[in-house]
Amino acid sequence: MATKTGVPVAPASMQRGATLSKEEILRYSRHLIMPEVGMEGQLKLKQAKVLCIGTGGLGAPLGLYLAAAGVGRIGIVDFDVVDNTNLQRQVLFSTTDVGRPKIQAAADRLRGLNPDIQIDAYETNLSSENALDLFKDYDIIVDGTDNFPTRYLVNDACILLGKPNVYGSIFRFDGQITVFGYPGGPCYRCLYPEPPPPGLVPSCAEGGVLGVLPGIVGTIQAAETLKLILGKGEPLVGRLLLFDALGMKFRELKLRKNPECPVCGEHPTVTKLIDYVQFCGIRGEEAPTTVTNIPEITPRDLKARLDRGDDLYILDVREPHEYQICNLGGHLIPLGELSRRAAELDSSKEIVAHCRSGKRSAEAVDFLRKAGFKKIWNLKGGILAWSDEVDSSVPKY
Ligand SMILES: [Zn+2]
Repeated sequence: MATKTGVPVAPASMQRGATLSKEEILRYSRHLIMPEVGMEGQLKLKQAKVLCIGTGGLGAPLGLYLAAAGVGRIGIVDFDVVDNTNLQRQVLFSTTDVGRPKIQAAADRLRGLNPDIQIDAYETNLSSENALDLFKDYDIIVDGTDNFPTRYLVNDACILLGKPNVYGSIFRFDGQITVFGYPGGPCYRCLYPEPPPPGLVPSCAEGGVLGVLPGIVGTIQAAETLKLILGKGEPLVGRLLLFDALGMKFRELKLRKNPECPVCGEHPTVTKLIDYVQFCGIRGEEAPTTVTNIPEITPRDLKARLDRGDDLYILDVREPHEYQICNLGGHLIPLGELSRRAAELDSSKEIVAHCRSGKRSAEAVDFLRKAGFKKIWNLKGGILAWSDEVDSSVPKY
């Protein structure tokens, strides 16, 4: 069950029923003078209940614009703590929030922006156990998460409860936005019946993301959410909007509801929430490593051996742009080039391979061992662990 922080209390004006106070009329005047919104639309916004999953890159513009627009009740779900790497794009947070639970920092910011609305802050990990219970009180669910298990979970819970799911995803310079779970429209499983193989699709933590991209995609999600509440315009149903920031282009793909869809099709086989981590497999950085039995050396042991003057060859299998951020003075051969450049290495020497976290270099060690290298080790935990355990002047990224 969710831990609910704060006590959501409906503002007095809401308890009195569907009216706007003098202050609210002033606050929302730019809405009220638009015929498509007007008093009727603003009251719809005031009575609307929207649940935002995640308060990260997408959740930031979403939360801010929904709160500013006067959506009467906004739920936010997150279990993370603000860290320094968030600040490049998660504009809900300021530098002084680093170390605070995201949910608290986000709730403070949104309440500061609009004290007339109700913010329900759920400091919890969304799971199959709590999703239906959390979703049932809201009209619209907005998915601002960045991992496959949660996407399938949000999708299935929305379909089971008959609620629209305003979907967005981001990677590097590219974004995707659509509305799933709308009556007659497709769902996430109609588009992606099966999750990608674990590790195939890198996350933003692995591949990076342009800081403004979640701002653009999250803002489009906010616009779609407001349109659904107002019942105006053409919702992004059955259409996958693709955004390419490098080319500055929008494209649209037609999406069709799949009659064989296991959750929203004519004969659904998914009739309750399942174990989504198992369904998707463990992927990305959560996976310790895909290869096993790799000989390892700890950063402390490597430091001790280097200090003793042992002749160790340091092999860095990261990308050149990562080498520029920080390096241990090793020889750089990116993992992708290793098969054709292995001849650069001397198999009679002791080699220690490293990358950022130890995952890519484990693959490199596995490959080189199969190629006949015997005296080779993986630096456990990579350059991140080196920074933690040996030399804190090496920046982490
Ligand atoms: Zn479906």
